[in-house]
Amino acid sequence: MKNILLITLLIFTSLSCNQNKGKNSANDNAINSTSIKLYAQKNIFSTIGKFKIFSLTEREGVGNVNILIDPPADVLQKFAPDSTFANSVRAFLIKTDKEIYLVDTGFGRNVFSLMDSLGVTPDMVTSVLITHMHGDHIGGLLIDGKPTFPNAKIVVSAKEFEYWTSKTEMTKLPENRRGNFTVAQKIFDLYGHRVHVQQPAVLALDGNNSYQEFPDGIQMIAAYGHTPGHVMYLVKDGAQQLLIWGDLMHAYEIQTAHPEISVKYDIDPIMASQTRIQVLKYVKAQNIPAIGMHMPSK
Ligand SMILES: [Zn+2]
Repeated sequence: MKNILLITLLIFTSLSCNQNKGKNSANDNAINSTSIKLYAQKNIFSTIGKFKIFSLTEREGVGNVNILIDPPADVLQKFAPDSTFANSVRAFLIKTDKEIYLVDTGFGRNVFSLMDSLGVTPDMVTSVLITHMHGDHIGGLLIDGKPTFPNAKIVVSAKEFEYWTSKTEMTKLPENRRGNFTVAQKIFDLYGHRVHVQQPAVLALDGNNSYQEFPDGIQMIAAYGHTPGHVMYLVKDGAQQLLIWGDLMHAYEIQTAHPEISVKYDIDPIMASQTRIQVLKYVKAQNIPAIGMHMPSK
């Protein structure tokens, strides 16, 4: 591997008081501080025991605070005075001696050339572990309407599968907003028996999550809210762990300090904020490094 670089940032943030429309405001659950070890770099990334983990970064850039739901003015002034925040779009590739996993697929743009630069072609991928069925995570599963990974299992949480295959849920939306349902259903149809629907573990702050390991020491953990069945993947080998938390956050710097603030992409913003607060407590209590699909590299 070339240019192997591991950046560990220890980020201390404070959860400060803020208004929240939900029943359980952040203040009910607030912790005074949290520390997150953030590992990120353009390509390589980290070794967790037998797992070699690579970040496949499709885009580095900035997002606009207009995606935030009711951000207080003082928070914007402090964290995003120019109305932007750093973010990215990325997927992860995890290699062991026997398996090659992808965690999400990005938009499906340069993710394939990034894989290629690591010597991985789509037919070598043994499992695609999906955090949720939004386009910037599943875009690489179909190219020109055809399945991209001829040998991989496609792993998705039970709730996520149920939601995106539900006609009732789809018809709650106006016709011009049903595209995501159509794409998700097409993916499930075309991958057929290779779609594995998995019941995730429930997060426990003491680290004793009700794990059912899938597969090979990678554990799917429920983190519902962003989508109804959004999950994280905990990569674990002995004492070494890394949590890939999917779309727990979109505006990293703002939402680690203020996890009560959700974004317009969160299908259930109140549940999403409660989940964010719990997961931040978990990574702090267990001292687990975490990374997300929209976390900036810096
Ligand atoms: Zn996303």
